[in-house]
Amino acid sequence: MKTYLGIDFGGTKLLIGEVDAAGTVLRTKCYGTGFTRQADAVPALLHAVRDYRDTVGFAGDASAAGVGIVGIVDNARGEWISIAHEPEGPPVPLARMVSQELGLPCAIDNDVRSSTTAELLLGQGRYSRDFIYLNAGTGLAAGFVVDGRILRGAHVNAGEIGHMVVDLSDTSPCCCGRAGCVENVVSGIGFTRQARLRGMEDLMTQAGGRADVRLLFERAEKGDAASQEIIECGARALACVMMNLVRVTDPDTIIYGGGILGDERFLHRVERHLEPGTMRGVTRGLVASSFQPRYAGLLGAASLGMVRESGAACAPVHKRDEGREAL
Ligand SMILES: [Zn+2]
Repeated sequence: MKTYLGIDFGGTKLLIGEVDAAGTVLRTKCYGTGFTRQADAVPALLHAVRDYRDTVGFAGDASAAGVGIVGIVDNARGEWISIAHEPEGPPVPLARMVSQELGLPCAIDNDVRSSTTAELLLGQGRYSRDFIYLNAGTGLAAGFVVDGRILRGAHVNAGEIGHMVVDLSDTSPCCCGRAGCVENVVSGIGFTRQARLRGMEDLMTQAGGRADVRLLFERAEKGDAASQEIIECGARALACVMMNLVRVTDPDTIIYGGGILGDERFLHRVERHLEPGTMRGVTRGLVASSFQPRYAGLLGAASLGMVRESGAACAPVHKRDEGREAL
């Protein structure tokens, strides 16, 4: 049985696991992360890969590996450029380093494009050549598939939709240098910022001083006016961005993932603000990712290995209704 090793390096955990060609998760092991510098993250990642190989091993015939990782990643070169907005040094040739460790071909990409690749090969994206994968969780980011290809951009920075401006009256600066960015209104980061502006410090119970978004939703349900305002502003802003994106790439499907849109009450609030005339071309509508949230990142990483092993170009081409045969 041909299998693929996925290495899902997120902000809070590193999950390594083996996946078969249909996307069934066979084995996993979880490791800690929380690194803010590549100089610390790279040795820890390589150590975890060695530990996985030695203590868990492979259930099948491992053919390739993939690393889905936070930050800026050059998929074509196999380089991890930075963990945050600014590089701390030269790009890290992470694909080569992991490949040498495992003796397998390896590909890397950032987390949202990894998830987009998984949707394209194994998920809801199999039925579309033009879709947007929208992830609303701690941050806000998107992957774009246009005519069967994933957009990456001249500096591999395409998809940073969190820094699209939705509020021209907002003057408080964003980390990107502008103001009024949507990520500051609707995301784990954004809800935290909005709650803090309203003095709701008792919500800040999550790691890194972040707001408990579930508690925020619960308070809104119970009629708390400030919580309702934060959520309603977030829903309007996200609907606005979605419709702007629809005008740019003309998708037939929007696939969503991440904890925030995964909350049905919030999803319905967003849907109420979607204008039918703008959304009429999105014929398959808003569709939830079919992957279990705990394995979505792992499948994204493993799917990079599938593309790498198939010998396809860095951006896979996928034809409508041909399923995975198009690989
Ligand atoms: Zn910004």
